[in-house]
Amino acid sequence: MTMPHRPIRPRLCSKASCSHPANATLTYVYGDAQAVIGPLSAIAEPHTYDLCDVHATSLTAPVGWSIVRHQAYPEAI
Ligand SMILES: [Zn+2]
Repeated sequence: MTMPHRPIRPRLCSKASCSHPANATLTYVYGDAQAVIGPLSAIAEPHTYDLCDVHATSLTAPVGWSIVRHQAYPEAI
């Protein structure tokens, strides 16, 4: 099973009502009940969502989940 090499394309925020460019990737780690926000991933994987700066900082975790933020996206006050 080989993955074709693809150049990184500009991606947009995955929020339906949002058309900003994505700057972060949200990954749901189901085993740990964690939503991890980090730098935009090069490869779109299952359970990941691209988010713009606004949505990356305003994200709230589902009940029972925690949010893990990389430094670029500290929790919004
Ligand atoms: Zn957005």
